[in-house]
Amino acid sequence: MSTDSLPKTYKAVSSPRPHGAWEVLTKELRDPLPHEVLVRVHASGVCSSDHFVHDGSWPGLQYPRIPGHEVIGRVAALGSALAGSTRLRVGALVGVGWNGGYCAACAACRTGDFAACERGDVTGFTFDGGHAEYMYAPERAVASLPEEVLTNASYAELAPLFCAGVTVFDAIRTSEWSPGDICLVQGIGGLGHLAIQYAAKLGLKVIAVSSGSSKAELALSLGAHAYLDASSTDVVAHILALGGARLILCTAPYAAHISAIIPAVARGGTVTLVSAATDGKIEVENVMMNLRRATVRGWGCGCAPDTERCVTFSTMANVKSLVQEYSLEEFARAYAGVMENKARFRNVIVFP
Ligand SMILES: [Zn+2]
Ligand SMILES: [Zn+2]
Repeated sequence: MSTDSLPKTYKAVSSPRPHGAWEVLTKELRDPLPHEVLVRVHASGVCSSDHFVHDGSWPGLQYPRIPGHEVIGRVAALGSALAGSTRLRVGALVGVGWNGGYCAACAACRTGDFAACERGDVTGFTFDGGHAEYMYAPERAVASLPEEVLTNASYAELAPLFCAGVTVFDAIRTSEWSPGDICLVQGIGGLGHLAIQYAAKLGLKVIAVSSGSSKAELALSLGAHAYLDASSTDVVAHILALGGARLILCTAPYAAHISAIIPAVARGGTVTLVSAATDGKIEVENVMMNLRRATVRGWGCGCAPDTERCVTFSTMANVKSLVQEYSLEEFARAYAGVMENKARFRNVIVFP
């Protein structure tokens, strides 16, 4: 499908080299390759994982690279192989998340575990992402969204669901628990503020934990049943007195804080690391975990069909990301806010 009716160029933000300053540049718009979807981007969330592109610490990154893996927009053109697609058409509302597609042939893919594909692409890492007016996405990375998702949320409020949202939603959804069980949410940031909403809407008794009292009111307004200030409360003793936490979602990337909260897990409970702590090793007490038959597991972002489920549920349950909007030209400031932990709670690049 040709792009004759579209602009000849588009603006994007790009990293020229590891540790290079972000550049806003103008690129030529080309026709999509056979299996590509050209997306007119309406909003693109800034994720702390964008730092891998900035500092070059992701294996195999090639430069220049446009990051952005929390993307919502509309189909602008389809590659020739997708002309007969029954789900994608020009103008359709779509999203692109962290998972940039899968090979369909590796050991993980052959068992249907596409998110763990050994040769999978990562949006904004192995191909250019959504911090741009247009992006080219492999068809397998594209989620199809019904128009109704825009009835109670803006493009900007939806964008973070494609990484932050689906990650915490699936971390909860795929754990074993019953309605009314205690879910401890460690950290109230980009991931945590969504985790509180999902866990509460799904029927868990949410107890949010952070340091200080400044986030208490917010946590309760998001649906938490209680808030604990870890700087003045013995969180583990408090939770164990209630029978322990069936779920612990660790969302703030501080290894020491995570290690300290793990002993609050209930018998048969699950601790899920959705954080990406790189400031040290997480420690667990082996015998305690044995006696409680408890689990510590990691969790990463799902695939396009997972994001479709997450966004649909978010609309139904009125779960929304709290966002601050920036223009593409303001990207460096939006990124700095995320890296300095000042975002309340997701910074999103929006396009008029
Ligand atoms: Zn992300
Ligand atoms: Zn694969």
